[in-house]
Amino acid sequence: MKIIFTKALPFLMLLTLFSCETKKEKPKSKPYKAGVILSFDDAYVDEWYEADQALKKYAWKATFNVCRIDSIGEPQIKKLLEMQKYGHEIAGHGYHHYNAVKFVKQNGIKKYLEQEIDPMIVSLKKKSFKTTTFAYPYGERSNELDRALSPKFKIIRGRAFGGEAPEKQDSYFNNSKIVFAFDIDNSHIHFSIPYLLELLDYAKKHNKILILCGHKPVKEITENYQTKIETLEFICKYMKLNGLKFYKLSDLDDLLPEQP
Ligand SMILES: [Zn+2]
Repeated sequence: MKIIFTKALPFLMLLTLFSCETKKEKPKSKPYKAGVILSFDDAYVDEWYEADQALKKYAWKATFNVCRIDSIGEPQIKKLLEMQKYGHEIAGHGYHHYNAVKFVKQNGIKKYLEQEIDPMIVSLKKKSFKTTTFAYPYGERSNELDRALSPKFKIIRGRAFGGEAPEKQDSYFNNSKIVFAFDIDNSHIHFSIPYLLELLDYAKKHNKILILCGHKPVKEITENYQTKIETLEFICKYMKLNGLKFYKLSDLDDLLPEQP
């Protein structure tokens, strides 16, 4: 027994030394420029394409979270591919656009992955989209869902529902794989240009990345889930004037702290 102990001692010492070393190494967050992520949900491809034509003058980059990929027509698929080629990101938003929390409650997580996530990934890949990130329909998520989707996506986006002071807003990148977007649709109860300006100013002043989402870009508002092109112009102009960077959702993956 004694002999075994003596023989094991240097090894144990080494082990202790090693574990002290690893404890010291905290995950370091990487430095980055202040910026904005503009993301759009659902399948308003024609309107996205039109907005793209209007906003190209700002050299903008956006993330388009597409749902129901197999119901999108061939001309629209071509537009999306063209937008991807230009440098926009085509991301996932569900094969059917299920409310993930409700679906899992009724059918379990296995069926959710089988029906909502896996066929989406297969179909997007088949159509040559380089999808690596995902946005939850309705922003409905849970820790269980985050855990199940984590191995499948680099970044997972929910929604920040409140309209609190910028320092309390969840819609800034916080060195985490799970991020939250503030909705800039005109119908969103907390949306207004002065508040958006506050959020942008905070990003600039505190070197943050503000994450925004919308649905259908339009010139004139006619119903819910519409974002004014004017709002998008306002954001792009602010960004150009203040030197903010256009990020895509997948860009955040490069900024995540390295795991020790
Ligand atoms: Zn949606």
